[in-house]
Amino acid sequence: MNNILMRNRLLKLALSKLALVGLVAFGVGCQRNTSAPAAEPAAAAESKIVDTARIAAGDSEPGNWLSTGRTYNEQRYSPLEKVNAGNVAKLGLAWSYKVDIDRGAEATPVVVDGVMYTTGAYSIVYAINAKTGEQLWKYDPEVQRSKSGNACCDVVNRGVAIGQGKVYVAAFDGRVIAINAKDGTKAWEVDAKDGSGRTFALTGAPLLVKNLVLVGSGGAEYNARGYISAFDTATGKLAWRFYTVPGDPAKPDESPAITMARKTWTGQQYWKQGGGGTVWNTIAYDPETDLIYFGTGNGVSWNKLERDEPNGDNLFISSIVAVKAETGEYAWHYQETPNDNWDYDACANIILADITLDGQLRKVLLHAPKNGFFYVLDRKDGKLLSAEKFAPATWATHIDLKTGRPVVDQKVADWSKEAKVVAPGPFGAHNWQPMSFSPKTGLVYIPAQEVASMMAPHKEPSFDNREGVWNIGGDLPIPADPKVIEQIAASLKGKLIAWDPVAQKQVWSQAYTNIWNGGTLATAGNLVFQGTADGRVVAYSADKGEKLWESPANSGVMAGPMSYEVDGEQYVTVMAGWGGVFPLIGGAISNYAKVRPEARVLTFKIGGTASLPAPKNDAVPLPELQEVKADAKTLARGADLFINNCAQCHGLNAVGGGVIPDLRYLTPEKHAIFAGIVAGAKSDRGMPSFAGRFNPEEVEAIHQYIIERSHALKQALGSPVEGAASAK
Ligand code: CA
Repeated sequence: MNNILMRNRLLKLALSKLALVGLVAFGVGCQRNTSAPAAEPAAAAESKIVDTARIAAGDSEPGNWLSTGRTYNEQRYSPLEKVNAGNVAKLGLAWSYKVDIDRGAEATPVVVDGVMYTTGAYSIVYAINAKTGEQLWKYDPEVQRSKSGNACCDVVNRGVAIGQGKVYVAAFDGRVIAINAKDGTKAWEVDAKDGSGRTFALTGAPLLVKNLVLVGSGGAEYNARGYISAFDTATGKLAWRFYTVPGDPAKPDESPAITMARKTWTGQQYWKQGGGGTVWNTIAYDPETDLIYFGTGNGVSWNKLERDEPNGDNLFISSIVAVKAETGEYAWHYQETPNDNWDYDACANIILADITLDGQLRKVLLHAPKNGFFYVLDRKDGKLLSAEKFAPATWATHIDLKTGRPVVDQKVADWSKEAKVVAPGPFGAHNWQPMSFSPKTGLVYIPAQEVASMMAPHKEPSFDNREGVWNIGGDLPIPADPKVIEQIAASLKGKLIAWDPVAQKQVWSQAYTNIWNGGTLATAGNLVFQGTADGRVVAYSADKGEKLWESPANSGVMAGPMSYEVDGEQYVTVMAGWGGVFPLIGGAISNYAKVRPEARVLTFKIGGTASLPAPKNDAVPLPELQEVKADAKTLARGADLFINNCAQCHGLNAVGGGVIPDLRYLTPEKHAIFAGIVAGAKSDRGMPSFAGRFNPEEVEAIHQYIIERSHALKQALGSPVEGAASAK
């Protein structure tokens, strides 16, 4: 232990005697003040602000976790080793903290000097004593619940950035809010929307780089035009904005990069529909190259023909883009899925690492996006160094290393005119659940999944892109037959893969019966932690993949775990909370695990003896059924309308995934006001208003379809797939 570390530990010991509130005040909230009186050495040492230099030097203070990926390399690797493969069996719950809303929890907390900052559903921010689990403050941005439908994939949030005495959150409704770390009061608030009036939502964690806080954009299923914005940390003023796809050609291009990108688009639909390419998750920074790296999502629509693009590459959708940190000027791009036709967002987390390839130490960027290939890029210039399949991927045979382009198997994968089963499907071979990298083992730990999906163009021929619902250019047909659903559910497989990025091959793997398992954490203690969709937190040995420990989580776990140290003791934390796109749309294929979405921060330590309350049981019996009063044609019309407007939240075939109400369980009282609910009567509860969207016959067709589905449920009760009871 060096002197500074020793001094810090002694100071922390002294500080632990102070009142809790005092401890918080010494956290990131205090600015460095060179004229501080000499009588406060403890405060001076502890009040060192979090800034870019401190995050970049994060390895010198392994007890802290200063950014969602821990340091700028985004490796999600903890150098701590007090918890290790030898003693992890003794890991127990130290404390848990219940967040307000039982929906998807996707945040990785950050910890600085004993204080944890994290977020829950609807972008609520929590500051928690990292040692005890006591709440220090809470900031609720009061996102309007009526806006819940403005994003594809639940009202989730993936965490905060900290720095310059503030905590930054990108709120679901598009606001970027700086909160004073010391007391949870608001410092400033700006709107990240660009004034175009397009649907917009934020779910990703911001990133602090120098005096800027970087924030992406969401909504590529909703006619959004993607961009990334940089705001001044002191004032919230917009410093720069980089658009990822071209806009209205009648207006000047925002950058030379946009002029370049426009040449890869044809027709008019692209800018009328927004184009997509949203930066909804990963943003990384390399202090050495001074470049910011981010991944972009699909185009609007997924179906290339519905955006008039039989051939165009459509830059910069489904790409990794690098821009200069201070100006947002284009540096390079690598498009992983040119002419994307499958929702192959390039938004899974980017990891920066230095690895030896052909005897040469290379500064690389590691990426395992939804499309199923593991990419190694030179992060100075974006040159492709290698790419191999880490999961079944039928859409392309391989990536041509000479051209850097995928060799697409259109016969197998082009569903733009006729239905095809494609692997991976839109859930992705690896989605946003963060992977990690251990420099000690040299392995990447990927929360992967095998998810072939049927993709099909619209049955409804008049379908046109609309605001407020998915515009994917097709239907996601899941048959109603429970036996077929069971087969589909059985074909989806989750997998934790330990991947060697040098040899481009799997070293070990662990299989799960479910997809949508959690992100991973690698530690110097030869451990990999991962939460699971079926409600556990598990530790494996990092080198061999032997299961060494597990704990119940009372809920499916999706978020990435992290680790930190307070007063010499190491903790491992993960947020539990089932939700996100899979249980929302997945319906019957997602609720096999029967987990309830209980959202909590779970923190473990060696010898921890805290316990969780009994799992929530809010199941209700099937209410008295309504009579089906429609003919087969009307029911088919209702089913079509449902899949294009309602299924994205209420589940395919109107089967709920356990996170939000299962419509087959509607009570007679709710049935009586069904049209009113569709028109916005429950918008304060998160049910968006569809007023003006449907005519009364269409509303009734949807209603009758739901009633028919409740009868189907009654018949199927007893089947292991459809037999799950509803959440209230
Ligand atoms: Ca997408």
